[in-house]
Amino acid sequence: MATRATDHERYPTLSVEQAQAQVLAAVQPLPAESLPLLEALGRVLAEDIVAAEDIPPHANAAMDGYALRHEDIAGASPEKPAWLQVVGELPAGARATVQLRKGEAVRIMTGAPIPSGADTVVRFEDTHAEGMRVCILRDPGPGRNVRAAGEDVRRGEVALAAGTLLRPQELGMLAALGRVQVRVHRRPRVAILATGDELLTPEAPLSPGKIRDANSYSVAGQVLQAGGIPILLGIARDSERELRDKLEEALALAVDLIVTSGGVSAGDFDLVKEVLRSLGRMEFWWVNMKPGRPLAFGTLGGVPLLALPGNPVSAMVAFHLFGRPMLYRLQGRSDVLPRAVFARLREPIERKDGRRHYLRVRLLRADGVLEAELTGEQGSGILSSMTRSDGLAIIPEDCQALPAGSTVQVLLLE
Ligand code: AMP
Ligand code: MG
Repeated sequence: MATRATDHERYPTLSVEQAQAQVLAAVQPLPAESLPLLEALGRVLAEDIVAAEDIPPHANAAMDGYALRHEDIAGASPEKPAWLQVVGELPAGARATVQLRKGEAVRIMTGAPIPSGADTVVRFEDTHAEGMRVCILRDPGPGRNVRAAGEDVRRGEVALAAGTLLRPQELGMLAALGRVQVRVHRRPRVAILATGDELLTPEAPLSPGKIRDANSYSVAGQVLQAGGIPILLGIARDSERELRDKLEEALALAVDLIVTSGGVSAGDFDLVKEVLRSLGRMEFWWVNMKPGRPLAFGTLGGVPLLALPGNPVSAMVAFHLFGRPMLYRLQGRSDVLPRAVFARLREPIERKDGRRHYLRVRLLRADGVLEAELTGEQGSGILSSMTRSDGLAIIPEDCQALPAGSTVQVLLLE
Protein backbone atom coordinates (compact mmCIF):
# COMPACT_ATOMS: atom_id res chain seq x y z
CA MET A 1 0.00 0.00 0.00
CA ALA A 2 3.02 2.29 0.31
CA THR A 3 2.80 2.81 -3.45
CA ARG A 4 -0.44 4.77 -2.92
CA ALA A 5 1.56 7.93 -2.32
CA THR A 6 2.62 7.81 -5.95
CA ASP A 7 -1.02 8.01 -7.04
CA HIS A 8 -0.73 11.57 -8.16
CA GLU A 9 2.08 10.62 -10.50
CA ARG A 10 -0.28 8.16 -12.15
CA TYR A 11 -3.04 10.76 -12.46
CA PRO A 12 -2.93 12.45 -15.85
CA THR A 13 -2.44 16.22 -15.58
CA LEU A 14 -5.11 18.20 -17.41
CA SER A 15 -5.56 21.87 -18.04
CA VAL A 16 -8.79 23.45 -16.81
CA GLU A 17 -10.00 23.62 -20.41
CA GLN A 18 -9.26 19.95 -21.06
CA ALA A 19 -11.12 18.92 -17.93
CA GLN A 20 -14.07 21.17 -18.86
CA ALA A 21 -14.21 19.70 -22.36
CA GLN A 22 -14.27 16.16 -20.95
CA VAL A 23 -17.01 16.74 -18.39
CA LEU A 24 -19.13 18.65 -20.90
CA ALA A 25 -18.78 15.91 -23.52
CA ALA A 26 -20.43 13.51 -21.07
CA VAL A 27 -23.75 15.37 -20.71
CA GLN A 28 -26.64 16.17 -23.03
CA PRO A 29 -29.59 18.52 -22.54
CA LEU A 30 -32.41 16.94 -20.53
CA PRO A 31 -35.87 16.41 -22.05
CA ALA A 32 -38.25 19.34 -22.31
CA GLU A 33 -41.41 20.12 -20.39
CA SER A 34 -44.08 22.72 -21.02
CA LEU A 35 -44.49 25.48 -18.42
CA PRO A 36 -46.68 28.54 -17.92
CA LEU A 37 -44.71 31.71 -18.59
CA LEU A 38 -43.94 32.85 -15.05
CA GLU A 39 -42.80 29.42 -13.93
CA ALA A 40 -40.27 29.39 -16.75
CA LEU A 41 -38.10 32.16 -15.26
CA GLY A 42 -34.53 30.86 -14.95
CA ARG A 43 -35.19 27.93 -17.30
CA VAL A 44 -33.74 27.42 -20.76
CA LEU A 45 -35.79 27.36 -23.96
CA ALA A 46 -36.08 23.96 -25.61
CA GLU A 47 -37.65 25.43 -28.77
CA ASP A 48 -37.03 28.29 -31.15
CA ILE A 49 -39.65 30.98 -30.64
CA VAL A 50 -40.76 32.13 -34.08
CA ALA A 51 -42.74 35.37 -34.08
CA ALA A 52 -46.28 34.74 -35.34
CA GLU A 53 -46.86 38.51 -35.58
CA ASP A 54 -44.95 41.74 -35.98
CA ILE A 55 -43.98 43.66 -32.84
CA PRO A 56 -45.32 46.28 -32.75
CA PRO A 57 -48.26 44.91 -34.76
CA HIS A 58 -49.10 48.32 -36.27
CA ALA A 59 -47.25 51.58 -36.86
CA ASN A 60 -47.89 53.80 -33.83
CA ALA A 61 -47.07 57.15 -32.29
CA ALA A 62 -43.89 57.43 -30.21
CA MET A 63 -45.05 60.78 -28.73
CA ASP A 64 -48.25 62.58 -27.81
CA GLY A 65 -48.93 65.09 -30.62
CA TYR A 66 -50.42 65.37 -34.11
CA ALA A 67 -50.25 62.72 -36.82
CA LEU A 68 -49.96 64.39 -40.21
CA ARG A 69 -48.55 64.24 -43.74
CA HIS A 70 -45.01 65.52 -43.69
CA GLU A 71 -45.36 67.21 -47.07
CA ASP A 72 -48.00 69.52 -45.50
CA ILE A 73 -45.61 70.92 -42.92
CA ALA A 74 -42.20 70.65 -44.61
CA GLY A 75 -39.95 73.49 -43.42
CA ALA A 76 -42.43 74.74 -40.78
CA SER A 77 -40.97 77.12 -38.15
CA PRO A 78 -42.30 79.70 -35.64
CA GLU A 79 -41.81 82.35 -38.36
CA LYS A 80 -43.35 80.19 -41.08
CA PRO A 81 -45.90 77.94 -39.30
CA ALA A 82 -48.18 75.50 -41.14
CA TRP A 83 -51.93 75.42 -40.35
CA LEU A 84 -53.83 72.14 -40.46
CA GLN A 85 -57.43 71.06 -39.86
CA VAL A 86 -57.86 68.67 -36.89
CA VAL A 87 -60.16 65.85 -38.05
CA GLY A 88 -60.11 63.48 -35.12
CA GLU A 89 -58.48 62.14 -31.98
CA LEU A 90 -56.78 58.76 -31.38
CA PRO A 91 -56.08 57.60 -27.83
CA ALA A 92 -53.90 54.50 -27.29
CA GLY A 93 -55.89 51.36 -28.01
CA ALA A 94 -58.24 53.09 -30.47
CA ARG A 95 -58.74 51.85 -34.03
CA ALA A 96 -57.46 54.20 -36.69
CA THR A 97 -60.49 54.52 -38.95
CA VAL A 98 -59.85 58.02 -40.27
CA GLN A 99 -58.16 58.51 -43.62
CA LEU A 100 -56.01 61.63 -43.58
CA ARG A 101 -56.23 63.97 -46.56
CA LYS A 102 -54.18 66.97 -47.63
CA GLY A 103 -54.08 69.69 -44.95
CA GLU A 104 -55.43 67.47 -42.16
CA ALA A 105 -54.07 66.28 -38.80
CA VAL A 106 -55.25 63.92 -36.04
CA ARG A 107 -54.57 64.40 -32.33
CA ILE A 108 -52.74 61.23 -31.32
CA MET A 109 -51.47 59.71 -28.05
CA THR A 110 -48.34 57.59 -27.57
CA GLY A 111 -48.96 54.03 -28.74
CA ALA A 112 -52.06 54.85 -30.80
CA PRO A 113 -52.05 53.53 -34.39
CA ILE A 114 -50.95 55.96 -37.09
CA PRO A 115 -54.00 56.69 -39.30
CA SER A 116 -53.61 55.90 -42.96
CA GLY A 117 -52.32 58.83 -44.96
CA ALA A 118 -50.22 60.13 -42.03
CA ASP A 119 -46.48 59.50 -41.95
CA THR A 120 -45.12 61.78 -39.20
CA VAL A 121 -46.00 62.86 -35.64
CA VAL A 122 -45.26 66.38 -34.36
CA ARG A 123 -45.24 66.56 -30.57
CA PHE A 124 -47.63 68.89 -28.73
CA GLU A 125 -44.74 71.11 -27.56
CA ASP A 126 -44.12 72.13 -31.18
CA THR A 127 -47.76 73.00 -31.89
CA HIS A 128 -50.42 75.48 -30.92
CA ALA A 129 -54.12 74.55 -31.11
CA GLU A 130 -56.93 76.98 -31.92
CA GLY A 131 -60.38 75.37 -31.96
CA MET A 132 -60.40 72.73 -34.69
CA ARG A 133 -57.21 74.07 -36.23
CA VAL A 134 -53.61 73.45 -35.24
CA CYS A 135 -50.58 75.52 -35.96
CA ILE A 136 -47.37 73.47 -36.53
CA LEU A 137 -44.30 75.41 -35.38
CA ARG A 138 -41.56 72.95 -36.24
CA ASP A 139 -40.72 70.35 -38.88
CA PRO A 140 -39.20 67.36 -37.02
CA GLY A 141 -38.29 65.66 -40.32
CA PRO A 142 -40.19 63.08 -42.36
CA GLY A 143 -41.26 59.92 -40.52
CA ARG A 144 -40.29 61.24 -37.08
CA ASN A 145 -41.97 59.99 -33.88
CA VAL A 146 -43.49 57.03 -35.69
CA ARG A 147 -42.65 53.49 -34.66
CA ALA A 148 -42.90 51.20 -37.68
CA ALA A 149 -44.80 47.93 -37.55
CA GLY A 150 -42.31 45.09 -36.94
CA GLU A 151 -39.47 47.46 -36.02
CA ASP A 152 -38.80 45.40 -32.89
CA VAL A 153 -39.52 41.88 -34.15
CA ARG A 154 -40.60 40.82 -37.63
CA ARG A 155 -43.20 38.13 -38.18
CA GLY A 156 -41.44 34.85 -39.08
CA GLU A 157 -38.21 35.82 -37.35
CA VAL A 158 -36.69 33.65 -34.59
CA ALA A 159 -37.27 36.05 -31.70
CA LEU A 160 -35.65 33.75 -29.10
CA ALA A 161 -33.48 30.77 -29.97
CA ALA A 162 -33.50 27.38 -28.25
CA GLY A 163 -30.77 27.41 -25.59
CA THR A 164 -31.67 30.91 -24.38
CA LEU A 165 -31.89 31.44 -20.64
CA LEU A 166 -35.26 32.95 -19.74
CA ARG A 167 -34.69 36.15 -17.79
CA PRO A 168 -37.29 38.85 -17.11
CA GLN A 169 -36.71 40.45 -20.52
CA GLU A 170 -37.31 37.13 -22.30
CA LEU A 171 -40.56 36.64 -20.34
CA GLY A 172 -41.62 40.08 -21.57
CA MET A 173 -40.82 39.12 -25.15
CA LEU A 174 -42.75 35.85 -24.88
CA ALA A 175 -45.74 37.72 -23.45
CA ALA A 176 -45.54 40.31 -26.26
CA LEU A 177 -45.61 37.43 -28.75
CA GLY A 178 -48.64 35.89 -27.08
CA ARG A 179 -46.77 32.81 -25.81
CA VAL A 180 -48.21 31.90 -22.41
CA GLN A 181 -46.80 28.37 -22.38
CA VAL A 182 -43.23 27.51 -23.37
CA ARG A 183 -41.11 24.40 -23.73
CA VAL A 184 -38.09 24.45 -21.46
CA HIS A 185 -35.58 21.81 -20.38
CA ARG A 186 -36.29 19.97 -17.17
CA ARG A 187 -34.22 20.93 -14.10
CA PRO A 188 -31.38 18.53 -13.33
CA ARG A 189 -31.66 16.51 -10.11
CA VAL A 190 -28.31 16.45 -8.37
CA ALA A 191 -27.36 14.05 -5.56
CA ILE A 192 -24.80 15.52 -3.17
CA LEU A 193 -22.68 13.33 -0.93
CA ALA A 194 -20.07 14.40 1.60
CA THR A 195 -17.45 11.83 2.58
CA GLY A 196 -15.19 11.56 5.59
CA ASP A 197 -15.00 10.01 9.06
CA GLU A 198 -14.36 13.46 10.51
CA LEU A 199 -17.64 14.98 9.37
CA LEU A 200 -20.67 15.86 11.46
CA THR A 201 -24.00 17.25 10.31
CA PRO A 202 -24.36 21.00 10.99
CA GLU A 203 -26.85 20.49 13.82
CA ALA A 204 -24.58 18.07 15.74
CA PRO A 205 -22.52 19.34 18.69
CA LEU A 206 -18.79 19.28 18.02
CA SER A 207 -16.79 16.39 19.43
CA PRO A 208 -13.01 15.82 19.50
CA GLY A 209 -11.44 15.36 16.08
CA LYS A 210 -14.61 16.26 14.22
CA ILE A 211 -15.65 19.14 11.97
CA ARG A 212 -19.00 19.99 10.51
CA ASP A 213 -19.91 19.23 6.92
CA ALA A 214 -19.77 22.54 5.05
CA ASN A 215 -19.55 21.18 1.51
CA SER A 216 -23.01 19.65 1.30
CA TYR A 217 -24.48 23.10 1.87
CA SER A 218 -22.14 25.23 -0.21
CA VAL A 219 -22.41 22.82 -3.13
CA ALA A 220 -26.18 22.51 -2.73
CA GLY A 221 -26.33 26.31 -2.87
CA GLN A 222 -24.27 26.30 -6.04
CA VAL A 223 -26.56 23.66 -7.54
CA LEU A 224 -29.63 25.75 -6.73
CA GLN A 225 -28.05 28.89 -8.17
CA ALA A 226 -27.21 26.96 -11.33
CA GLY A 227 -30.84 25.92 -11.74
CA GLY A 228 -30.51 22.36 -10.40
CA ILE A 229 -32.45 20.54 -7.68
CA PRO A 230 -30.08 19.46 -4.90
CA ILE A 231 -30.77 16.19 -3.10
CA LEU A 232 -28.63 15.88 0.01
CA LEU A 233 -27.57 12.34 0.73
CA GLY A 234 -25.74 13.36 3.89
CA ILE A 235 -22.39 12.03 4.99
CA ALA A 236 -20.75 8.73 4.11
CA ARG A 237 -18.11 7.51 6.55
CA ASP A 238 -14.87 6.34 5.01
CA SER A 239 -16.15 2.79 4.82
CA GLU A 240 -16.64 0.84 1.67
CA ARG A 241 -20.05 -0.34 2.76
CA GLU A 242 -21.41 3.12 3.55
CA LEU A 243 -20.06 4.65 0.38
CA ARG A 244 -21.61 1.90 -1.72
CA ASP A 245 -24.94 2.22 0.07
CA LYS A 246 -25.09 5.99 -0.40
CA LEU A 247 -24.15 5.82 -4.07
CA GLU A 248 -26.77 3.14 -4.69
CA GLU A 249 -29.29 5.34 -2.89
CA ALA A 250 -28.40 8.14 -5.32
CA LEU A 251 -28.99 5.90 -8.32
CA ALA A 252 -32.37 4.81 -6.94
CA LEU A 253 -33.41 8.47 -6.75
CA ALA A 254 -33.14 8.84 -10.53
CA VAL A 255 -30.71 11.73 -10.42
CA ASP A 256 -29.04 13.35 -13.41
CA LEU A 257 -25.70 14.01 -11.71
CA ILE A 258 -23.93 12.82 -8.56
CA VAL A 259 -21.50 15.18 -6.83
CA THR A 260 -19.29 13.90 -4.03
CA SER A 261 -16.69 15.77 -2.02
CA GLY A 262 -13.57 14.46 -0.33
CA GLY A 263 -11.53 11.33 -0.68
CA VAL A 264 -10.00 11.87 -4.11
CA SER A 265 -6.57 13.15 -3.15
CA ALA A 266 -3.50 10.97 -2.98
CA GLY A 267 -3.88 10.22 0.73
CA ASP A 268 -3.62 6.66 2.00
CA PHE A 269 -7.00 6.60 3.69
CA ASP A 270 -9.13 7.66 0.78
CA LEU A 271 -11.43 4.80 0.09
CA VAL A 272 -13.66 6.89 -2.11
CA LYS A 273 -11.37 6.39 -5.08
CA GLU A 274 -11.34 2.63 -4.67
CA VAL A 275 -15.10 2.41 -4.30
CA LEU A 276 -15.76 4.67 -7.28
CA ARG A 277 -13.32 2.66 -9.34
CA SER A 278 -15.00 -0.60 -8.45
CA LEU A 279 -18.55 0.67 -9.07
CA GLY A 280 -18.24 2.61 -12.28
CA ARG A 281 -16.01 4.00 -14.98
CA MET A 282 -13.87 6.64 -13.32
CA GLU A 283 -11.00 8.83 -14.35
CA PHE A 284 -8.79 10.58 -11.85
CA TRP A 285 -7.28 13.86 -12.87
CA TRP A 286 -4.72 16.23 -11.59
CA VAL A 287 -6.07 19.54 -12.90
CA ASN A 288 -3.34 22.13 -13.20
CA MET A 289 -5.02 24.65 -10.94
CA LYS A 290 -5.17 25.87 -7.38
CA PRO A 291 -7.26 25.44 -5.36
CA GLY A 292 -9.00 22.23 -6.39
CA ARG A 293 -6.38 20.08 -8.00
CA PRO A 294 -7.49 16.45 -7.60
CA LEU A 295 -10.72 15.72 -9.39
CA ALA A 296 -12.44 12.55 -10.48
CA PHE A 297 -15.06 12.15 -13.12
CA GLY A 298 -16.92 9.21 -14.54
CA THR A 299 -20.26 7.47 -14.74
CA LEU A 300 -22.04 5.23 -12.28
CA GLY A 301 -24.92 3.21 -13.68
CA GLY A 302 -25.11 5.65 -16.58
CA VAL A 303 -25.21 8.72 -14.30
CA PRO A 304 -22.32 11.19 -14.52
CA LEU A 305 -20.41 11.55 -11.26
CA LEU A 306 -18.18 14.45 -10.35
CA ALA A 307 -15.91 13.86 -7.35
CA LEU A 308 -14.76 17.16 -5.88
CA PRO A 309 -11.82 17.60 -3.52
CA GLY A 310 -12.72 17.83 0.15
CA ASN A 311 -11.31 21.20 1.13
CA PRO A 312 -14.26 23.59 1.23
CA VAL A 313 -12.84 26.21 -1.14
CA SER A 314 -11.41 23.59 -3.51
CA ALA A 315 -14.82 21.93 -3.67
CA MET A 316 -16.57 25.20 -4.48
CA VAL A 317 -14.03 26.36 -7.06
CA ALA A 318 -14.04 22.96 -8.76
CA PHE A 319 -17.84 22.96 -8.80
CA HIS A 320 -17.87 26.46 -10.28
CA LEU A 321 -15.49 25.45 -13.07
CA PHE A 322 -16.77 21.95 -13.84
CA GLY A 323 -20.08 21.24 -12.09
CA ARG A 324 -21.93 24.40 -13.02
CA PRO A 325 -21.10 24.13 -16.74
CA MET A 326 -22.44 20.57 -16.65
CA LEU A 327 -25.68 21.73 -15.05
CA TYR A 328 -25.99 24.46 -17.67
CA ARG A 329 -25.50 21.95 -20.48
CA LEU A 330 -28.04 19.58 -18.88
CA GLN A 331 -30.49 22.49 -18.95
CA GLY A 332 -29.73 23.08 -22.62
CA ARG A 333 -27.96 26.41 -22.22
CA SER A 334 -25.83 27.47 -25.15
CA ASP A 335 -23.38 29.47 -22.99
CA VAL A 336 -22.07 27.25 -20.23
CA LEU A 337 -18.67 28.52 -19.09
CA PRO A 338 -18.23 30.98 -16.19
CA ARG A 339 -18.31 34.63 -17.16
CA ALA A 340 -15.37 36.92 -16.49
CA VAL A 341 -14.83 40.63 -16.12
CA PHE A 342 -11.57 42.51 -16.30
CA ALA A 343 -10.31 44.21 -13.17
CA ARG A 344 -7.18 45.96 -11.97
CA LEU A 345 -5.20 44.25 -9.21
CA ARG A 346 -4.86 46.32 -6.05
CA GLU A 347 -1.75 44.51 -4.87
CA PRO A 348 1.17 42.61 -6.41
CA ILE A 349 0.89 38.83 -6.67
CA GLU A 350 3.57 36.15 -6.96
CA ARG A 351 2.88 32.53 -7.85
CA LYS A 352 5.73 30.38 -9.07
CA ASP A 353 4.38 26.85 -9.27
CA GLY A 354 3.20 26.89 -12.90
CA ARG A 355 -0.42 26.23 -11.89
CA ARG A 356 -3.40 28.40 -12.71
CA HIS A 357 -4.49 30.16 -9.57
CA TYR A 358 -8.00 31.27 -8.74
CA LEU A 359 -7.69 33.93 -6.06
CA ARG A 360 -10.61 35.07 -3.97
CA VAL A 361 -11.20 38.76 -4.57
CA ARG A 362 -13.68 41.46 -3.81
CA LEU A 363 -14.57 43.76 -6.71
CA LEU A 364 -14.55 47.49 -6.04
CA ARG A 365 -14.96 50.54 -8.17
CA ALA A 366 -12.27 53.24 -8.13
CA ASP A 367 -12.46 56.19 -10.55
CA GLY A 368 -14.88 54.23 -12.68
CA VAL A 369 -12.46 51.30 -13.00
CA LEU A 370 -13.15 47.87 -11.57
CA GLU A 371 -10.50 46.84 -9.04
CA ALA A 372 -9.84 43.46 -7.45
CA GLU A 373 -8.70 43.17 -3.85
CA LEU A 374 -7.68 39.86 -2.24
CA THR A 375 -10.08 38.92 0.54
CA GLY A 376 -7.45 37.36 2.78
CA GLU A 377 -5.81 33.99 3.32
CA GLN A 378 -5.99 31.89 0.17
CA GLY A 379 -5.60 28.42 1.72
CA SER A 380 -7.99 25.86 0.22
CA GLY A 381 -9.66 25.35 3.60
CA ILE A 382 -10.20 29.06 4.34
CA LEU A 383 -13.90 29.52 3.72
CA SER A 384 -14.01 32.96 5.37
CA SER A 385 -12.10 34.57 2.49
CA MET A 386 -14.61 32.93 0.14
CA THR A 387 -17.50 34.51 2.05
CA ARG A 388 -15.94 37.94 1.56
CA SER A 389 -15.29 37.47 -2.16
CA ASP A 390 -17.43 38.08 -5.18
CA GLY A 391 -15.07 36.71 -7.76
CA LEU A 392 -12.08 34.53 -8.55
CA ALA A 393 -9.13 36.34 -10.13
CA ILE A 394 -7.29 34.15 -12.63
CA ILE A 395 -3.51 34.08 -12.48
CA PRO A 396 -2.40 32.22 -15.60
CA GLU A 397 -0.06 29.19 -15.49
CA ASP A 398 2.83 30.97 -17.16
CA CYS A 399 2.62 34.06 -15.00
CA GLN A 400 5.04 34.21 -12.08
CA ALA A 401 4.48 37.73 -10.81
CA LEU A 402 1.95 40.45 -11.43
CA PRO A 403 2.63 43.98 -10.24
CA ALA A 404 -0.11 46.03 -8.61
CA GLY A 405 -2.22 47.68 -11.30
CA SER A 406 -2.07 44.67 -13.66
CA THR A 407 -5.28 43.74 -15.41
CA VAL A 408 -6.64 40.30 -14.54
CA GLN A 409 -9.73 38.33 -15.49
CA VAL A 410 -12.14 37.72 -12.64
CA LEU A 411 -14.75 34.96 -12.76
CA LEU A 412 -17.94 36.19 -11.18
CA LEU A 413 -19.33 34.16 -8.29
CA GLU A 414 -22.89 35.31 -8.66
P1 AMP B 1 -10.08 14.89 1.68
O1 AMP B 1 -10.08 15.31 0.26
O2 AMP B 1 -11.16 13.90 1.99
O3 AMP B 1 -8.72 14.40 2.10
O4 AMP B 1 -10.40 16.19 2.54
C1 AMP B 1 -9.54 17.30 2.49
C2 AMP B 1 -9.86 18.25 3.61
O5 AMP B 1 -11.19 18.74 3.44
C3 AMP B 1 -9.84 17.63 4.98
O6 AMP B 1 -9.28 18.57 5.88
C4 AMP B 1 -11.28 17.38 5.29
O7 AMP B 1 -11.56 17.38 6.67
C5 AMP B 1 -11.96 18.55 4.62
N1 AMP B 1 -13.32 18.20 4.24
C6 AMP B 1 -13.69 17.12 3.52
N2 AMP B 1 -15.01 17.12 3.34
C7 AMP B 1 -15.50 18.20 3.97
C8 AMP B 1 -16.81 18.73 4.14
N3 AMP B 1 -17.88 18.12 3.63
N4 AMP B 1 -16.95 19.89 4.83
C9 AMP B 1 -15.87 20.50 5.36
N5 AMP B 1 -14.61 20.06 5.21
C10 AMP B 1 -14.41 18.91 4.54
MG1 MG C 1 -11.71 12.57 3.40
